[in-house]
Amino acid sequence: MTDTETGARIFLSPPDVTDLERKLLLDAFDSNWVAPVGPDLDAFEEQVAHRVGVRHAVALSSGTAALHLALIAAGVRRGDTVLVPSFTFAATANAVVYLGARPVFVDSTPDSWNVDPALVAEELRARAERGNLPRAVIAVDMYGQCADYDPLLEACDRYGVPLIEDAAEALGATYRGRAAGSFGLAGVLSFNGNKIITTGGGGMLVTDDSRIAKQARHLSTQAREPVAHYEHRAVGYNYRLSNLLAAVGRGQVQRLDQMIAARKATFAYYRDQLPGLTFMPVAGYGEPNWWLTCVLTEDESSRDRMLAALNGRNIEARPAWKPMHLQPVFQDCVTRGGGVCADLFRRGVCLPSGSALTDHDRRRVVDAVREG
Ligand SMILES: *Cc1c(COP(=O)(O)O)cnc(C)c1O
Repeated sequence: MTDTETGARIFLSPPDVTDLERKLLLDAFDSNWVAPVGPDLDAFEEQVAHRVGVRHAVALSSGTAALHLALIAAGVRRGDTVLVPSFTFAATANAVVYLGARPVFVDSTPDSWNVDPALVAEELRARAERGNLPRAVIAVDMYGQCADYDPLLEACDRYGVPLIEDAAEALGATYRGRAAGSFGLAGVLSFNGNKIITTGGGGMLVTDDSRIAKQARHLSTQAREPVAHYEHRAVGYNYRLSNLLAAVGRGQVQRLDQMIAARKATFAYYRDQLPGLTFMPVAGYGEPNWWLTCVLTEDESSRDRMLAALNGRNIEARPAWKPMHLQPVFQDCVTRGGGVCADLFRRGVCLPSGSALTDHDRRRVVDAVREG
């Protein structure tokens, strides 16, 4: 097929930037705040903290950096264990390993594809009995839908284990009226190029705890003591977001509601046009940010047929995330359950969901899925 027959490539979740972000970026450049400090960084942090409804936000170079610092704040050290959903992106588990700790993977619930709170409670109970509690629990808000925080926090509180919310995919989502990122000890956001808003690469740690925010700020800037010469009492990191990128973020976060509405419209369109398909369930407890629309096919071969039909028409689509307990790098880790997310991987497909998708693009996706 020629390029005109297939049309321009449709990406899964490309950046959506406008003249607003361009102007803010150039204003920052022209002001000479070309450094990982500056007024845009402060303003971006303030906007996001306000949006998430927390007191503090620390802008960082990636969501992975935010996970790393959140785990340090939770006290995770060499030899510890941390409960991690198996159904997530590898960054969640990698950050645990950076600290010399071991992830213990927990399966999803089919109700929301997020970590199963009953399995987390069961794992905590069993470990409490053995005197072997994990140092922390990470919950992930998959594909822009919050995990079920009431039972998760109840289980964590019962055993005094801190919860970290990996909301990298979920900025703008809510759970019982509260914003994604605001649950547990600290929340993690990502502004990678494929996320709901982007700075081209970046992340944020959000928290109500001023000590955690202060520590994250300190560690993200090489743990420099506030004296004239370079003085260090801890090993730090170079994890701060650049002021230039924060300027892009300021524009993106102003447009967040529009971008959520556009992604939701895409979800609604696919659901209306493809009534025979099973869509990722929307739990009754909140409103997702509709980051990615994902569907479940009959079996692995129908998944592969759908992917081939889409990719054959120059449309980017992917299988659902491959669970961590099936990844070669984590093959020695302990897992509780695993059958649910293994099945999601076998049958799940993520469809193009970018907020700048046109009606024509959506139509092309639907036609390709029907063909598959
Ligand atoms: C994207 C993502 C991350 C990592 O964020 P980066 O900014 O790319 O480092 C972490 N967890 C989840 C669930 C993600 O989707």
